[in-house]
Amino acid sequence: MAPAPESWTILKILRWTTDYFTTKGVSEPRTSAEVLLAHSLGLTRLDLYLRYDQPLNQEELARFKALVLRRAQGEPVAYLTGHREFWSLDFHVTSAVLIPRPETETLVAAALEAAKDFKPDKKITPLEAHPGTQNPEPETPTFWGLEIGVGSGAIVITLARELPYTAWVAVDLSAAALAVAQDNASRLGVADRIRFLRGDLLAGLRPESRFALLAANLPYVPRAEWERLPRDIKDFEPRQALWGGEDGLSLIRVLVRQAHEYLMKGGWVLLEVGDGQAPQVATLLQQTEAYDRVETIKDFNGIERVVRARRSDGAG
Ligand code: GLN
Repeated sequence: MAPAPESWTILKILRWTTDYFTTKGVSEPRTSAEVLLAHSLGLTRLDLYLRYDQPLNQEELARFKALVLRRAQGEPVAYLTGHREFWSLDFHVTSAVLIPRPETETLVAAALEAAKDFKPDKKITPLEAHPGTQNPEPETPTFWGLEIGVGSGAIVITLARELPYTAWVAVDLSAAALAVAQDNASRLGVADRIRFLRGDLLAGLRPESRFALLAANLPYVPRAEWERLPRDIKDFEPRQALWGGEDGLSLIRVLVRQAHEYLMKGGWVLLEVGDGQAPQVATLLQQTEAYDRVETIKDFNGIERVVRARRSDGAG
């Protein structure tokens, strides 16, 4: 049986919780225990080890226990703490949004690389949303970007921060997700350069060929994989953010049909895709005949995770 409350120290409770999570089939039992305990005590994970002998009081125990019970049912740590780190930034998350994944940093990196094609240009970038329209750094690109399906806002907010003289349109179908993204944009200091719009893919936007980058991490989980998703994902994250129809590509297909009409010449579309989908998505992009380069980029696991394509100069 568990020790009496007064004898629970940080180290003891970490050990006990890790074992409990292991028997409950919780993924990453030790990390889950550490993150939830640190959150309950208002400490960092490092603090836990610096204060391993510190006893927990009744209130701390009660707070921690409530989270442990929820985690044992599979609820993701990020929803329990309300936070997830992405690109070393702290994002707020709720169950209305997909939890940002480390592999999505591959999409951000691919977009930043593509952004180097663009130089400061007053003609293409009014940046009226930005308080300072003068770009004091001659090498810093200026343009409008677009993200479709923003969720927590991790992608568009990171790009806006990394590219300080760009302005963005950020679209999602879910009003609840947009509220989370808007809050993150404010906290992370880029709300004045991102316009959040509720909409179904590109349906609410005029095809004006004005965007230099169009990034999207759309739902792409195919039917065959849905049942095999871990319960942490399947039972807790928004199905709307994951389910990609029969072959996983139903939304990506619709977006690819129209994306080029929204890109300026030389502009890039960047799509996150699931394991094994890159060749098909590359073919879909090529079939539009609107792009002169189509490239696939691997994530840190060696999985082809991003397909990007550059709109050619020719096509109107
Ligand atoms: N990478 C997510 C997963 O593994 C899927 C994200 C998406 O569908 N865009 O569940």
